[in-house]
Amino acid sequence: MVFPFSSVEDFKINITEEHELFRKSVREFVESKVMPRWQEIEQSNRIPEDILKEAAELGFFGVGIPEEYDGQGGGQLLTAILTEEVARAVPSMAVTIGVNHLFAIPILLYGSEDLKKRYLPPIARGEARGAHANTEPSGGSDVAGIQSVARRVNNHYVLNGRKVFISGAADADYFVVSARTSPPKEGKRWWGITVFVVEKDTPGLKIGQQFRVIGMRGEQPYEVILDDVKVPEENIVGPIDEGFKVIVSTYDHTRIGIAAQAVGIAQATFEKALNYALQRELFGQRLIEFEMIIDKLANMYMKLEAARLLTYWAASLADEGRREFIVAASLAKAFATEAAEWIARQSIQIHGGYGVDVETGVERYLRDAIITTIYEGTNEIQRLTIVRQLVRQAFGLKI
Ligand SMILES: Cc1cc2nc3c(=O)[nH]c(=O)nc-3n(C[C@H](O)[C@H](O)[C@H](O)COP(=O)(O)OP(=O)(O)OC[C@H]3O[C@@H](n4cnc5c(N)ncnc54)[C@H](O)[C@@H]3O)c2cc1C
Repeated sequence: MVFPFSSVEDFKINITEEHELFRKSVREFVESKVMPRWQEIEQSNRIPEDILKEAAELGFFGVGIPEEYDGQGGGQLLTAILTEEVARAVPSMAVTIGVNHLFAIPILLYGSEDLKKRYLPPIARGEARGAHANTEPSGGSDVAGIQSVARRVNNHYVLNGRKVFISGAADADYFVVSARTSPPKEGKRWWGITVFVVEKDTPGLKIGQQFRVIGMRGEQPYEVILDDVKVPEENIVGPIDEGFKVIVSTYDHTRIGIAAQAVGIAQATFEKALNYALQRELFGQRLIEFEMIIDKLANMYMKLEAARLLTYWAASLADEGRREFIVAASLAKAFATEAAEWIARQSIQIHGGYGVDVETGVERYLRDAIITTIYEGTNEIQRLTIVRQLVRQAFGLKI
């Protein structure tokens, strides 16, 4: 067996008829209700509330959350299929749903039963929204370097600091927030961070400026300011001072969702290119008959299917509770997002001038794909994870 395969079980992708039936129902909804409104979403930079309400009624916000907390159940693979299909229609809507997972997963992995009961059911029912506030101006890649502080006062904590690029912040009812509760220990920079659940109406929590990023129009990130925000100690997620692990292991799971966003983007833009090449006629023949176009389409399709397989594989390993899923998730995230970016660029080229005409809705996939290479661990950070895991497994060395 070659790393990360420790057993033949590791080769499996656990897709079933139920997954495909679920895909069909999501596709029917997004094709009829979401796709036709992509221009409205690009222009208003918001996902219309009526769409989100219907998505909530269909249970989209509860996918991946156990039934005991009013969720739909289902694991990473089901979540990946939902994400892929929503992203195929309007990628930013997959972000709107995904940020709720970024809120729910740390609570599911590390939260107390009380936190799970209080915060997961309204999220799963789509009645409340969650956001995840970790990144700071000091640098998103360096989670151990955050500078927000949480000072203990009696049985609560007082949070001060500034978070940047927080998706869904303007609409969020609840936030998971990381802050430093103790100085780092010698040789352990990651030590001393704690994760809290903060409610939006808590005095001192303010939503600051909106960042105007190139893509994912419909779900733009915001600055979140913490100015003497008082949080009860029972709102701590996971062990005090060990919040680094809470954050990092959350991303191990949620980055499969970013890979799935990328697969949805790649699928959508590939379909557009294929259809266009079939119908466009030049020099007395269809575009699809030119060898250079065939070469492009074949390469696009190869990367798309490889990205999908890696994503489903990472999700299947995660659902089986196998540790190998961490490296698979990084492989899937980096590969799928770069594949989506490349496929989106080729699709523009195949469309010629219409590819760069905003009205045709082709160029937006490139803008969206670029963003997927950056958040939830840039692709440089994924490469670090991949090689670190490989060296640890193969040689027992820590680098
Ligand atoms: C649209 C959008 C939405 C976002 N939503 C959220 C959210 O909801 N919640 C949240 O907390 N954050 C969110 N983020 C933040 C995102 O996770 C960070 O932007 C990302 O982690 C990178 O951090 P940074 O921007 O500070 O770049 P930096 O960490 O400063 O990195 C700059 C560059 O250096 C590279 N680099 C850094 N370290 C290394 C290294 N060790 N080796 C090699 N290269 C390295 C990076 O890959 C990058 O290319 C969002 C960002 C965007 C753009």
